[in-house]
Amino acid sequence: TLISPNAPTAELQALDAAHHMHPFTTGADLAKKGARVITRAEGCWLTDSEGERILDGMAGLWCVNIGYGRKELAAAAARQMEELPYYNTFFQTTHVPAIQLSARLAELAPGDLNHVFYASSGSEANDTNIRLVRTYCAEKGQPERKVIISRWNAYHGSSVGSASLGGMKGMHGQGGVIPDVHHIDQPDWWAEGGDLSPEEFGLERARQLEAAIEEIGPEKVAAFIAEPVQGAGGVIVPPETYWPEIQRIVKKYGILLIADEVICGFGRTGNWFGSQTMGITPDIMTIAKGLSSGYQPIGGSVLSDEVASVISGTEFNHGYTYSGHPVACAVALENLRILDEEGIVARVRDETGPYLKEKFESLAEHPLVGEAKIVGFMGSLALTPDKAARAPFASDAGTVGYICRERCFANNLVMRHVGDRMIISPPLVLSKSEIDTLIERAWRSLDECH
Ligand code: PLP
Repeated sequence: TLISPNAPTAELQALDAAHHMHPFTTGADLAKKGARVITRAEGCWLTDSEGERILDGMAGLWCVNIGYGRKELAAAAARQMEELPYYNTFFQTTHVPAIQLSARLAELAPGDLNHVFYASSGSEANDTNIRLVRTYCAEKGQPERKVIISRWNAYHGSSVGSASLGGMKGMHGQGGVIPDVHHIDQPDWWAEGGDLSPEEFGLERARQLEAAIEEIGPEKVAAFIAEPVQGAGGVIVPPETYWPEIQRIVKKYGILLIADEVICGFGRTGNWFGSQTMGITPDIMTIAKGLSSGYQPIGGSVLSDEVASVISGTEFNHGYTYSGHPVACAVALENLRILDEEGIVARVRDETGPYLKEKFESLAEHPLVGEAKIVGFMGSLALTPDKAARAPFASDAGTVGYICRERCFANNLVMRHVGDRMIISPPLVLSKSEIDTLIERAWRSLDECH
């Protein structure tokens, strides 16, 4: 028999720890201190099994852009499940939700990014990109162009391929990395900028790309992949000089630029895509998360006309059973309709985004906070014992961040910590009064770990 949803929290937690392996978690910790059991959610608020209401400052995992509890998405899923719950898009078949969603994405995506290859997640989409860019180069008569350059501390997914693109050393250490991936340093001025101004540092870090291309050999490099604003690495907002210089370099060497929009896409930075906010013209965009606001697992790669036309010249030996899943496509379409018709992206750009920025930046006045940086609805606080020196804590990296995250959680606010950075990425429907609540709880939590 199944355990009752209304069983005591401790019983649910014990069963969870006994049988459920959690991502990015030390399982043994769960046996000692059970996971919080989330039972419902509405708007920007979660409810747990004890009836506590928690403000979700992370939109789940940076994905619930339209907020929780939108019945239109449930209705779209139910309709599609009744009509056509599944069919594949292999071997010359298609279906209406995939046709409609692809055409809609072509309208929304910047420039000539007009062609979508579907996956069920950002990780799968970035795995697609590895095969895509190498196939593209081979089809253009340059099969030796295989290397993909990425950045340390980037996050591009958890599969072995996408984690190899990512720059998380802890992941590389468990399972290894695929060949022909090269990493350069991230543009984190706060932690790594030394005596350089942010502008000088942005140029210095971008020029590492040029140095890497020269060292590897330009004839061997296929692509550069990066998040417009690094998310899981700690919301690292690059200096203004960074992206224009990267764009110049990829153009000079004719290498493909992949913008990983898995977090930045669908309004998070105040435009439909982070590439627009950062002034980037990618050849390929990775999308997931906000595409369906997390209501269904769906992701994809959006290709330029040129890349798509080269790939279309051969059989692309790649695809997932759930590529273009009809239910996921139908839910994503409904999500895009809501984002658009309710003016949610424009509100982040013009109204709630600027309000959140003002309030969030005021957290820099807290004695523990060195830097408060935010773009649209993704922001981070660099915690420090010495603001002027931009110094890290003497204790193990991440200890103060962890304590601070725990204090936030106890105060019914979800903020995440990445080392000693505290980050937010709330639903895009967060109201001004909810912003006030978020800031008040964040300040109180910082006080408590001071
Ligand atoms: N790319 C970026 C920028 C991400 O932030 C993530 C997930 O956080 C991924 C890719 C991987 O997406 P998924 O977890 O859907 O596989």
